[in-house]
Amino acid sequence: MNSMAEIWEKMVEHMCTQMSPTSVNTWFSECEPLEFENGILVLKCGTDFKRDIILERYKNLLTDALFYIFSVDIDVSLLTEEEYEDYELRKKSETFLPEADGYTFDNFIVGPSNRLAHAASIGVAASPGNKANNPLFIYGNSGLGKTHLLLAIGQAIFEKSPSKKIEYIKGDEFTNQLVESMQGGYSKEFRQKFRNVDLFLVDDVQFIAGKIQTQEEFFHTFNNIYEAGNQIVITSDRPPLEMVKLDDRLRSRFEGGLMVDVQTPEVETRMAITRTKAARLGLYLPDDVVSYIAENITANVRQIEGVIKRLTAYKDLLNDEVTISSVKRAIKDVIRVGTFIPTPDLIIQESAMYYSLSPEDLRGQRRSKNTAMARQISMYLMRNLTNLSLKDIGEQYEDRNHSTVLSSIKKIEDLLNKDTEMQGIIRDISSNINSRS
Ligand code: ADP
Ligand code: MG
Repeated sequence: MNSMAEIWEKMVEHMCTQMSPTSVNTWFSECEPLEFENGILVLKCGTDFKRDIILERYKNLLTDALFYIFSVDIDVSLLTEEEYEDYELRKKSETFLPEADGYTFDNFIVGPSNRLAHAASIGVAASPGNKANNPLFIYGNSGLGKTHLLLAIGQAIFEKSPSKKIEYIKGDEFTNQLVESMQGGYSKEFRQKFRNVDLFLVDDVQFIAGKIQTQEEFFHTFNNIYEAGNQIVITSDRPPLEMVKLDDRLRSRFEGGLMVDVQTPEVETRMAITRTKAARLGLYLPDDVVSYIAENITANVRQIEGVIKRLTAYKDLLNDEVTISSVKRAIKDVIRVGTFIPTPDLIIQESAMYYSLSPEDLRGQRRSKNTAMARQISMYLMRNLTNLSLKDIGEQYEDRNHSTVLSSIKKIEDLLNKDTEMQGIIRDISSNINSRS
């Protein structure tokens, strides 16, 4: 006995031994079993009137029948008409937006760098429209999970209430669509589109700053949605305060809810992300490879993903295990496209080479004047060329903590202010590093 229809047939049969078939027919003829969800039978009931009667008087009949068939206690969930509509919508599509596929809270790795943004997003998904979180404004550098969180909020709300109207738009698309609608003479329709939305998701809002007409329109859209008590979530690559050309009225709206940032993940989080992403692609990575990736790709989760995807491709090509050397190649490939962020390895190598030292000298404890200088320079460059935290930088060296790193960087900054020689040295080493991109 497999199909839902068969199970239902048996249940009806059993219920007919407990009460008159006419009554069973009266109350249960419109019922339809939909699925087992977490071990509970989900039942469509027809009208809410019938559902309420079943719930009050006949629920035991259903659970008894289930026990009779399966010999274990199984609960029943009786859907209201509205819940059934939601159920149908949910079945029709699994995501509120094709792009949202995979961008869920489940797939998001939480660490100190994004804990607040994650918690705020969960909060909004749980109670959208709550004044304290409206709008939710998530900001931070590229590749740190802003779009992921934005879409995860949309997905969570969609799954809970699929009939809610959700609009997702990028800042630059808002502009494009507005311009098109004005040229085509349908700006009213454009406006209409964003009226009555329950959830408004705006990605990369920084693109609207400075565009007068777009900001004007956006302001009205925002107010409409906000005043109706509906939720707005916005992402941006910087906080409102740093959006120089942003209209002041918008700035104060953006700042009026909850603002949270996402920061560069710490090395532990980067390791967790590396492991998880690899596992999802069916790729096993030995510990040394995981560490190598996490220590060298520091600024951007998107790059970690890129490296893992490349490794998957190599693995299929070479039918081989993943080693540090294939990782180095993958990192090179990934970092070459897009802005070049040198690895700590490379920075140490080039700083050492400039002083005819070895990378081990810099990482180790040698205290000669040249070694100390090269080491301090490498720390300074790491701070300026990557998004590594002081703690992360310290971990590149034996026995260097966050405060030694800070004083080293200060020292180089002082020298840079004082003499042109240091400026020349930094310029030379930087250009050597860049030429290796
Ligand atoms: P942003 O919008 O901030 O530029 P994205 O949200 O597009 O960044 O993230 C870039 C990629 O990295 C996406 O594929 C995303 O799934 C992934 N990513 C970012 N942060 C995390 C995280 N904490 N856990 C899992 N994946 C992440
Ligand atoms: Mg994004």
